[in-house]
This record gives sequence, structure tokens and C-alpha cells, in this order.
Amino acid sequence: MDGLVIRRTERSRLGDLDLDRLVFGEVFSDHMFTMTYRNGAWRGPEIVPYGPIEIEPGAMTLHYAQMAFEGLKAFLGVDGRVRLFRPDRNAARMRLSCGRMCIPEIDEDDFVEAVTRLVDIDRGWISDRPGFGLYVRPVVFSAEPHLEVRPSNSYRFIVMTCPVGAYFRTGDTGLSLKVEDHFARTAPHGGVGETKTSANYATTFSAGRQAREQGFDQVLWLDGGEHRYIEEAGLMNVFFRIGDRIVTPALNGAILPGVTRESIVTLLDDRDIAVEERPVAIDEIVAAFDDGALEEVFVTGTAAAVLPVGRLNFSGRDLKPKQAETAPLTRSLYDELTGIQYGRIEDHHGWNHTVEV
Ligand SMILES: *Cc1c(COP(=O)(O)O)cnc(C)c1O
Repeated sequence: MDGLVIRRTERSRLGDLDLDRLVFGEVFSDHMFTMTYRNGAWRGPEIVPYGPIEIEPGAMTLHYAQMAFEGLKAFLGVDGRVRLFRPDRNAARMRLSCGRMCIPEIDEDDFVEAVTRLVDIDRGWISDRPGFGLYVRPVVFSAEPHLEVRPSNSYRFIVMTCPVGAYFRTGDTGLSLKVEDHFARTAPHGGVGETKTSANYATTFSAGRQAREQGFDQVLWLDGGEHRYIEEAGLMNVFFRIGDRIVTPALNGAILPGVTRESIVTLLDDRDIAVEERPVAIDEIVAAFDDGALEEVFVTGTAAAVLPVGRLNFSGRDLKPKQAETAPLTRSLYDELTGIQYGRIEDHHGWNHTVEV
């Protein structure tokens, strides 16, 4: 990346960080990366103190939501090295999201360099407590002040980071998911479900709120056409262990292609367990439960890595996986994935991107 300017904060806020009271996404580290697209090119890459930005009320993103984001994590390893997990996959996915949203693409190498340089500068924010890390949130949005409904001529790309704690707490009974049979997250054909674009999230809030009011943690989405095939859960992909088989919904254009999902499929393949990636009807899961064959259900995503599901509720029926309490496969996959991320286990696949001092 040409001409990166770095202006460090004169007053670090790191001293105020309270690791015992860390809420996901609430505290931002000292710096942010920003660059601007105008006159046909991305320009002016900078790392500056994190803080408010100026935006005109007429900025197109505020009206038409032409934007995309990403989510990845950096970890402080047992050897003192900082590692980003597969940032190249997030760079590639952001390029796809940008393409779909008519946003000028961000070069994948520039994306990885921006994230790496920023994490390097704020490496002091990464705790060595087990399960802690630095969540990295890149976002790109249209910035031109214009109310015509068309793609913008100017954009901002910003990367910010948040210190985050462990998700997997001892004594967890697993997530409870309400199978959503009324609202839809995405359109079945030709929609934007496979992109990480902001509008996909605002439209899910009412279903999520209703589910929480009914005592569930999250919604498990069915396809937007027939409400018959399972898609994913909130910001996480889903896997089922039925007998000895592992099944996950195939990427069908409506499902977000999770980096964690892809990594888990590979780790299972390393164990000679072939994951069946195909359409998974909710009826199949109900039938497996009735047969006593629904062993484990788990969800995967950057924030939580791998999380067991303790309860699925479909049309008022509770389906509890047989091994929900011990969740042996879920736990072993969590241990293996996080072992690689923290440098405890050898990284055979070359997934870690070390942030050099
Ligand atoms: C980000 C996201 C995921 C998980 O993707 P990871 O790359 O594993 O973090 C799954 N579903 C949705 C809808 C998402 O936005």
C-alpha cells in the first residue's frame, strides 16, 4: 500500500480497559485505519486515533445502505506472537460483497496490510487471558452527498478493533435457537444473503427481539422461499451431528460463507469425517430427533468460534440434542480451532497470519 500515513494517539485509553467487564463490541482500541475512494481510486491510507468522523446528512449510505463489512480476529499466542486468523479469506469475501453492492473493490493485499498494520499498532490491547483476542471490524460505505438512487461516486473504508473476551463459559448449557417460521433473512434466488452487507442485519432485528422475548438466544433461519430448509443462525453457520454423519446446509447464495464454517469442514476432513454439504430440511432434523439420532448441534463464527446448541424450538416443540450437555465433537473442534489460533497446535494449513513486530 503506497503512502500509508501513521498518526499515533497522544493519549492512549488502554489504561481504562477493564478486562473483567468487557462487553463484545463496546470498547474500541486506540487507532483506526481509514482511506477514501474518489475520482476513481482509493486514496490517502491513514492510521489515526479512533474517533468520530465527519459525514454529510446527504451521504448516500445513510439513505440507501450501500455498504459492506467484515469480522475477523487477532490472538495473542502462548509464544507471545500475535496472529490474525485467515485474513485473506475476509479480504476475498469483502471483495465479493463490494462487487455485489457496486462498491469499488478493495485490493485484497491492501485489505490484509491495513488490518495487519492496525493490529500491530494496537497489539497492546490484546489480552493473554484464555479466550481473549482483538476483534477486527472493517467497514466500507458510500459517502457521496446525493439523493439520487444510484451507486455513489465516493466511499470510505475504515477498520476498527475491539478487545473481546471469551465466549465459551464453563457451565454453559448451549445456545437456545428458535426456528423462525415467519420472518425471512434473505431472498432464495438472486438475493444478497451471501454478502456481509449491513441491510441483511437490520432486517433481522424484529425476529431476534421476538425470539429473545420468548426466552431464546437467537433465531435459526429457514429459507426465504418455502420456510423449509435450514440456512443459518444470526452471525453463525450451523452443523448437525446425526448418528455418525455431519451435515451442514450447502452454500446456496443465501447463506453467508463463513470462514469458520470452511475451517471446520477442513478440520473434520483432516479427521476423515466428510461433511455432507447439502440442503437440510427442518423436517429431517425433527425426524432425526424423533429417531433419537440427533446427537449434537453447533454453530460457528468468528466471534464465538464453535458454540454448542442446547435446544432448538420448532413450532412450539423443543428438540434437545442427545449429547447437548457434553457436546464432545463440538468441544474437540473448539479446542482444535482455538489451539491453532493461539499457537498451541501446529497450523498445518497455514491459516495463521503472524503480525510481526
Ligand atoms: C459473519 C457471518 C457468519 C460467520 O462468518 P465467519 O467468517 O465464520 O465469522 C455467519 N453468518 C452470517 C450471517 C454472518 O454475517
